[in-house]
Amino acid sequence: MSNSSAQSSNFIRHIIDQDIANGKNDGKVVTRFPPEPNGYLHIGHAKSICLNFGVARDYQGQCNLRFDDTNPEKESQEYIDAIKKDVQWLGFNWSELRHASDYFEKLYEYAVELIKLNKAYVCSLNAEDIRKQRGTLTEPGIESPYRNRNIEENLELFADMRAGKYKEGEHVLRAKIDMGSGNINLRDPVLYRIKYATHPRTQDKWCIYPMYDYTHCISDSLEGITHSLCTLEFEDHRPLYDWVLDELKTPSHPQQIEFARLSVEYTISSKRKLNLLVSDKHVDGWDDPRMPTISGMRRRGITPESIREFCDRIGITKKDAFIEMSVLENCIREDLDPRSNRLMCVINPLKVVIENYPDDKEEEFTAKNHPKDPEQGKRSIPFSKIIYIERDDFMEEPTKDFFRLGSGKEVRLRNAYDIKCTDVIKNDMGEIVELLCEYDPDSAGKNKKKLKGIIHWVSAKHAINVETRIYDRLFNTPNPGAVEDIISTLNNKSLSIHKDSKIEPHAKTITLEDRVQFERQGFFCLDSKHTKEKLVFNRIVTLRDSWTKPGQASKK
Ligand code: ATP
Ligand code: MG
Repeated sequence: MSNSSAQSSNFIRHIIDQDIANGKNDGKVVTRFPPEPNGYLHIGHAKSICLNFGVARDYQGQCNLRFDDTNPEKESQEYIDAIKKDVQWLGFNWSELRHASDYFEKLYEYAVELIKLNKAYVCSLNAEDIRKQRGTLTEPGIESPYRNRNIEENLELFADMRAGKYKEGEHVLRAKIDMGSGNINLRDPVLYRIKYATHPRTQDKWCIYPMYDYTHCISDSLEGITHSLCTLEFEDHRPLYDWVLDELKTPSHPQQIEFARLSVEYTISSKRKLNLLVSDKHVDGWDDPRMPTISGMRRRGITPESIREFCDRIGITKKDAFIEMSVLENCIREDLDPRSNRLMCVINPLKVVIENYPDDKEEEFTAKNHPKDPEQGKRSIPFSKIIYIERDDFMEEPTKDFFRLGSGKEVRLRNAYDIKCTDVIKNDMGEIVELLCEYDPDSAGKNKKKLKGIIHWVSAKHAINVETRIYDRLFNTPNPGAVEDIISTLNNKSLSIHKDSKIEPHAKTITLEDRVQFERQGFFCLDSKHTKEKLVFNRIVTLRDSWTKPGQASKK
């Protein structure tokens, strides 16, 4: 993890440095990453993971993984398992694995205590009336008619709520704070609601569930969290966080600190919206390589090192901002370039017959696996009379700035010979199906004529048939999250599948862990879901930035 140990400093680290200097929390640093298991983790979560685990690592502290599992209908074991796998894959290990549900009994006892302190009451208004009476930013709320129920009655009603004597929505437990507060979160927020749902862990033991704001601060305190790092939208919830802990005199009072959410252009980071894409089958599951999920990025071939480097590079600030996708892609390229073997793969093949090359002759050319790293060795590349080149690398009537192959033009085959196009063969529909060429036998291995156009190729006889999948942005607009109908912003060209790609035989040695560079095409890896029948390659990223112009991502 060398790249992220050099984490740049940020305002949170300054606060921690000061706390340590002042001997606060006995100099300890304890953080947590608290996902709700209602979906798969995405790139935004990666920022929070790198921050929380990174801080704990660098200050010799602890970081817990805590599932914030208080909404049983939306949560599942599948999500819990996926989240654990993703955190570990990113390179982090939690000190302790916790669940908010571990504290259900304790949270209940604390709620009873709040009632006894006359700081909470059972309210029998329905959800709609509670909402209406909450007031607005400019108008104070209205006190509930149940606000002054006596403590005995509240205790009994709350016990009966737990015992299952009421229907959903019949009662809630509310904090008694201030209906006139300028902060709406302090206008007698709901602490508990009745919900007859089976919980992935506690099953049917509970029919009342605590709300996030109440659960989170107490869970933090029970775990001895020192710095509770969360995103900016919780800033207005901090007074409630502090109120609960102050009233209950819990074991410790963690400090909540907010930082800016990560938003990346042309993508979304909301589990709810990502879930919609999955359930309506707009993508091939949570791990579709176009998804901004950790599992999607993993299947795409993006490395944990690149994601950690990206999180480090964008830094931690107090101001929300959109990050360009090219920032992530640059991190990926910088990570992959030094470690990826080079190969030649023709994605969209066009047959070329070299007429003056002997019919039965075969040759082997030797090429470096990496242009700058001799350690990565060499490989041999077979050559024969019939080869494939990329369709895009031929233009019948080439324009001035087209340096690749054209009728009557000469081009260099990378690692092999110079060839000149002598004829073009078309089918009945006028489509080009084959090129006839002549090679220069004296040009083996050397670009003596200094030809500008150098293209990749594969010997037809020796080629392996593979499938290549080229990905473009999943959304057409920079901020799809702001569009009401997210589906309308989907890019219907975000995936192109090439079932007839041809690759040199050396590809047989590629394993699932490998990342390779297909010369001129980008970085690729094997798709983890398709390995048996045919090799399927995912393009991880292009060789150069392709995000500047819409619709350019799949071009070279
Ligand atoms: P979602 O809307 O996707 O469900 P969330 O914030 O509700 O997001 P949680 O599972 O509650 O998701 O998040 C776990 C932690 O990750 C929280 O501390 C949250 O602040 C943080 N987090 C979530 N999204 C982002 C993001 N885009 N940038 C930074 N941190 C994030
Ligand atoms: Mg949440």
